[in-house]
This record gives sequence, C-alpha cells and structure tokens, in this order.
Amino acid sequence: MAHLTFLGSCREIGRSGFLIEEQDESIVVDYGTKLQNPPSFPPAIPYDDIQALALTHAHLDHSGGVPIILKSSEASLFCTPATRDLSSLLLRDMYKISNGRLPFNRDDMSLIKKKSVAALYEETFPIGRYFEMTFFNAGHIPGSAMISIRVDGKRILFTGDFNAYESRLNPGARENLPRHDIVVTESTYARRRNPPRATIEQDLIDTIIETLERGGTVLIPAFAVGRSQEIMCILESYKIPHKYPIFIDGLARNVNDILMKHPEYISSPQAFARAVKRIIVISGNRERREAANSGGIVISPAGMLKGGASHLYFKLMHDNPLNSIVLVSFQIPDTPGAELLATGEVTVGNRKYKVKADVRMHHLSSHSDADGLLNLLENIPGDPEFYVVHGESESCDALAESLTEIGKTAHVPEVGDTVSI
Ligand SMILES: [Zn+2]
Repeated sequence: MAHLTFLGSCREIGRSGFLIEEQDESIVVDYGTKLQNPPSFPPAIPYDDIQALALTHAHLDHSGGVPIILKSSEASLFCTPATRDLSSLLLRDMYKISNGRLPFNRDDMSLIKKKSVAALYEETFPIGRYFEMTFFNAGHIPGSAMISIRVDGKRILFTGDFNAYESRLNPGARENLPRHDIVVTESTYARRRNPPRATIEQDLIDTIIETLERGGTVLIPAFAVGRSQEIMCILESYKIPHKYPIFIDGLARNVNDILMKHPEYISSPQAFARAVKRIIVISGNRERREAANSGGIVISPAGMLKGGASHLYFKLMHDNPLNSIVLVSFQIPDTPGAELLATGEVTVGNRKYKVKADVRMHHLSSHSDADGLLNLLENIPGDPEFYVVHGESESCDALAESLTEIGKTAHVPEVGDTVSI
C-alpha cells in the first residue's frame, strides 16, 4: 500500500513538499523554502528511493529546496520548460541575496538544467515501477501545473497554486479534471472574495491615468514572475498613450526574456510581445532617477517594497503628492508594503519615511478566491478525499469547512503526517 507524507506547507505558506512512497520507490512533489533569515526547508527524506522530483511551479516556496534533492539523489526533475527556466532564475537570485548561506551551491543549482525532463501539459509519464504522472495547466503563473500521480490504481492530485480564472497573462486552470481519489489543495485565499477581474483592472487603469494626467509618476512594486508581466499586459490592452513611458526594472527584465522563449504558456503571446516591445528596460541608477521623474509608469520588484530596486524608487518618489504608489498584491504583515497601507509611512533601515504620494491597492490575485477554489474542487469527479494545505491556518480550516458543508471529506494535515493511499 502506498503512503503520502506531508513535508511542509501545513497551516502555512512556504516550504511546500509532499512524498509519495510505494515499497522501495518514491516521488517528491515540490520541495520549497520558507523565505526567512536563514531560509528553512522541508525535513530530509530517504534520498536513495526517489525516482522523480516533480515541481508544480517556479515560485521559491515550491522550488527553493530543489537543488538539495537533486544533489542528494539520482532523481530526475519533472517540470514544464518554463518552470525549469524561471526556477533557475529565482534560485540564482535567492543564492545571491543569501550570500551563499544555503545548503547547496552554484553547481547544485546547475543540476536543474542537467537533470530536468520537460513535462508538457496533458502528457503522462511512467515513473519507476509503480507510478504514472500527468501535468495539467494550473493557471497561476506561466508554466504552472497541477500534478496528478497514479499509484496502486489510485489517483492523487496536487493542485499546487492555481487560478481557476483566466487573466491577461495566464489561461485559467484546466477545467473538467479527470477523476481522482485524493486531492491535496492550496487554500491561500479561501477567506477572500475578489471583485470581477474587469472591475479591478478598470480601477487600476483609472488610478494610473489620473496620476499621469496630473503630471505624476506611478510606481508599481510587483513580483518579478507573473505579476509584473500581468501589469504589462493590462497596460497594453488598455492602450496607455505612448506619450507616457513604461519602465521595467529588476528581475522582471530576465523573466520577460524567458517568457518570450515560452509563448505557449501565455494567454495572448502577441499582446505580451507587444507589451515587451513597448517597455523601456532600466539598468542603472541614473536611468532610475530619470524614470522616477518621467511622468510615466515604473514596474519594479519587490512586490511588497521589500528591497530590490523598488526601495530606490520609493525613496525618489514618496514625497511628491502628484505621484502614486500602487500595490497590486496582498501585503504580508510586517513588510514595508503592509506598513505603508496601515500607517502611510515606511521604515527603511533606521529611517521612517512619511509618504505624500497617493497610495492605492488594486489586488490582482494569481490564486483562486473562495468561490474559484470551491468551484474547481467540487467538480473533480470520483468523490475525492481532500487534504487542505498552503494557506494561513484559518484559511486551511475555512476551505476544509466549506468542502465538508458540500458533503466532501476534508482534512487539514500537520507537518509529518502520513496517510495510506
Ligand atoms: Zn506560487
């Protein structure tokens, strides 16, 4: 009988990891990190048995520990080509920021390219003697996947992070999923209901146009992978007049290069290519100062004003009331972005900055909200049993409760729990 062990992302977001074992073989799905100082990883596992490491998507909370598995085992890495390239980029960046204080080195990170097998959506692979694996589009970021594993005649689905709704950048998650016996699902926004996407986009565009027309510059701190490109695509589709320049900075530049090589993961590759052509790429501090006073739009990581080039722009732009700072993602408590929303001030180092620029929040989520989660999950045939992970403790409970209310069986596992399949 096969077993499933929860290695991480139990009642938290971070260090995702799952282990499926059948006799002397196993598959690992995701092996992420929790970005704290120092970063933490899921517990060690018996490396000799691992036949494959399957990666749902590139974000570090899912991929940050991948080099640990690859250097310690004979496992191949199964992921989409976009995930392979994006996770390599994010890992190299994490390595740089951590000054090498990680349980792996540069050579270990290069194993991602060497040991990866391109997993395409809807294709099924036999793994070892006991397993079969299929990837489905998850709609979360380009290349993101839900991973379905067949063992002992049972099917287990790992949703990874998913968005049931189409966005400007990503096609929505696979509809009409096949029957499953067990579903391990994320629950990030199980306690949120998002307004319709068109409303959020229109509000965002209104803020931007207002700012530009009064002569201000717009700063949009955004995650490098996914969110920055989503904004570029929105600006493209609403046809922001060309007299207003659009700048992009930080890691988002490299992400654009990678996605141009993988257009098959994007809703509208033509619109994305037009957006990439339009933007001005920034590479030095003189250009940054010019962009901050350009009367245009600056898209720059990090998404919560936590370091990256966004700090520099913040310092240059915060005290001009004509400017706007537009946050586009949930701001985790204790980040500068959360402080800004709550107090109108931001602490950088020992200094507190009082913000005179207009501060707005337009939340462009890349996860399903409560309705999107439930709608996708309840339509999976086979009356599967659910295990709810990857959310704050309250969100895991909320989704498990909603599933129970519609007659499903749902559990919220703890780290280290093992269940029989
Ligand atoms: Zn993610």
